[in-house]
Amino acid sequence: MKRTTGQNRAITSKWRPATQAIRGGTVRSEFGETSEALFLTSGYSYDCAEDVAARFAGEQAGMTYSRLQNPTVEMLEERIALMEGAEACRTQASGMAAMTTALLCQLSAGDHVVAARAAFGSCRWLTDNLLPRFGITTTTIDSRDNDAWKAAIQPNTKVFFFESPANPTMDIVDIAYVCTLAKQHGITTVVDNAFCSPALQRPMEFGADVVAYSATKLMDGQGRVLAGAVCGSSAFINDVLLPFQRNTGPNLSPFNAWVVMKGLETLDLRARRQSENALEVGRFMEKRVPKILHPGLPSHPQHELAMKQMKACGPIFAFILDGGRRQAHDLLNALELIDISNNIGDSRSLMTHPASTTHHNMGAEAREAMGIGEGMLRINVGLEDPADLIEDLDRALCKVGL
Ligand SMILES: *Cc1c(COP(=O)(O)O)cnc(C)c1O
Repeated sequence: MKRTTGQNRAITSKWRPATQAIRGGTVRSEFGETSEALFLTSGYSYDCAEDVAARFAGEQAGMTYSRLQNPTVEMLEERIALMEGAEACRTQASGMAAMTTALLCQLSAGDHVVAARAAFGSCRWLTDNLLPRFGITTTTIDSRDNDAWKAAIQPNTKVFFFESPANPTMDIVDIAYVCTLAKQHGITTVVDNAFCSPALQRPMEFGADVVAYSATKLMDGQGRVLAGAVCGSSAFINDVLLPFQRNTGPNLSPFNAWVVMKGLETLDLRARRQSENALEVGRFMEKRVPKILHPGLPSHPQHELAMKQMKACGPIFAFILDGGRRQAHDLLNALELIDISNNIGDSRSLMTHPASTTHHNMGAEAREAMGIGEGMLRINVGLEDPADLIEDLDRALCKVGL
């Protein structure tokens, strides 16, 4: 029946990613709606008491409560799993709910985690503050250094946790090396792939076990909702993650799931065009600023590795001014078109000063160690005409004497 082909892996797994992004996971109701239905419901009703009992006993298929199952949410989860090339996926209320769930569902007191030093501020808070409170020790390392991963392994190391490119230093991890090393030691790799989305990088192709997302970023891509997702094997998702998620409840609302599904329909187009625009804007900026960290430019020290792992450079890059926070803030204030905003993956161009925003809480010393100086700015290049973005940047750079 065509109504449910979206849930038939024998069919959908043969589709190419751009097709999966539009049709994967779709189940149509009896009305045959073309766009996915939004089931904004917390519960379900039953024809008789015996049916409820059978469903709770796992003897009858069907939904029981939206913390456990929801048709709209399940469509999104199946779609993301297909695009990722993963056996299974579960979604969460935000990217941080996804990261927290991906880590806590599998860790216990006495375990050890090796994590990338360069990471999203809240991810660092998890490894620096939350996990140690529960007796889970952590080591943060320079994730670009393959030997540092090896040297940090302890007998009780359970998880490697990293992002690539990293926010906002654009450090690249050699995903294949780190995942192979982890496998040799029975360690689970958790990759935060928020900067790329499956349209630009699929870490499982390089051996990653678990891929976690802020779907707030490129997947929604239009700055509307917070959302998160965790992808992995059926065994990991069903036996390890689900018991945690079903009982602690970091679930994604069906409404937000529906919005993200609409975002996925254009993900491939947006990710490609935003990468092209980011390259054009990056080539302009490279001539005007003292230092640029852009994975798509040959000047990036890990450009070759980045381009081996990524289909395109993505919309985000960072650059560094010599005049510290004053000059960085002045540049932000001089922008007319590009918004001052700390989000990424949006179809609008946005710029932020990481030291005073996304990475403010971690303190100056940790920022310094991570390579985030007071003169660093991070830009998300959107879908506007890059010529307008370049004119805006040109005017703002002139105003701050560059
Ligand atoms: C934004 C972001 C997160 C957190 O996601 P939210 O949806 O804001 O909770 C985690 N990791 C990275 C790399 C991010 O960019």
